[in-house]
Amino acid sequence: MSSRGTLFTVSAPSGAGKTSLVKALADTLSRVRVSVSHTTRAIRPGEVDGTNYHFVSRKHFVDMLEQGQFLEQAEVFGNHYGTSKAWVDDTLAQGLDVILEIDWQGAQQVRRQCPEAIGVFILPPSRQALRQRLTGRGQDDAAIIERRMREASAEMSHYVESDYLIVNDDFDTALAEFQALITAHSLRLDRQQQNRQQLLMELLS
Ligand code: GDP
Ligand code: ADP
Ligand code: 5GP
Repeated sequence: MSSRGTLFTVSAPSGAGKTSLVKALADTLSRVRVSVSHTTRAIRPGEVDGTNYHFVSRKHFVDMLEQGQFLEQAEVFGNHYGTSKAWVDDTLAQGLDVILEIDWQGAQQVRRQCPEAIGVFILPPSRQALRQRLTGRGQDDAAIIERRMREASAEMSHYVESDYLIVNDDFDTALAEFQALITAHSLRLDRQQQNRQQLLMELLS
């Protein structure tokens, strides 16, 4: 029987590169699944409903909230974001690792409910790089970029609440560090005792 997967939260100021890193990670590690959040934010050009987010109305979001369907939820930049509790539970029960790309408020809620969850924080190499990435992504207008830059310091101050810190300067280096920490966790003794139960029994018999 395989062990329950590990729950990871990944937080970062907008534009630090968390979506790019999480996507690259999930493309290379087969036991990792990324949660698709529900949001009331407007869909960006190139985004696909059900892939990047489940784009829902405010009313739909509030109904889900009242029905207790969210593991965590938060208001970020005036929009609501939330993680489906049922999907996370089902996926962890299959022995798969789950990544939540959520803001620091959501990460705090997850930590309270699932103390075994692992927090990862991603920082940009400089404020200038952060602005360049937000602008270069070409998906938010100038006012939204200014708001995200203004809120970046407050968001970044929450790095101390996480277990791991990655500085996304060179992308491939940051990705290798991210892969290393996820892999190291899958090798923890408690997980290996379940995943390698048969082998351990044979070796010790
Ligand atoms: P999406 O699914 O198209 O949003 O893909 P990603 O979020 O993974 O990345 C968006 C774009 O940024 C892709 O074209 C990536 O190749 C590019 N990108 C990611 N990291 C880097 C990097 O370190 N340097 C450069 N120059 N481009 C990058
Ligand atoms: P987030 O999800 O944290 O808002 P994204 O993953 O959308 O950030 O990244 C923001 C922009 O920065 C994207 O255009 C992405 O291609 C780019 N980017 C990500 N990592 C790097 C990096 N190490 N060097 C240069 N550009 C990067
Ligand atoms: P964006 O609109 O740029 O995709 O995301 C804006 C912010 O909302 C980011 O900080 C992102 O981590 C956060 N976010 C996305 N999905 C969720 C979620 O399900 N829950 C919470 N709490 N935050 C989320």
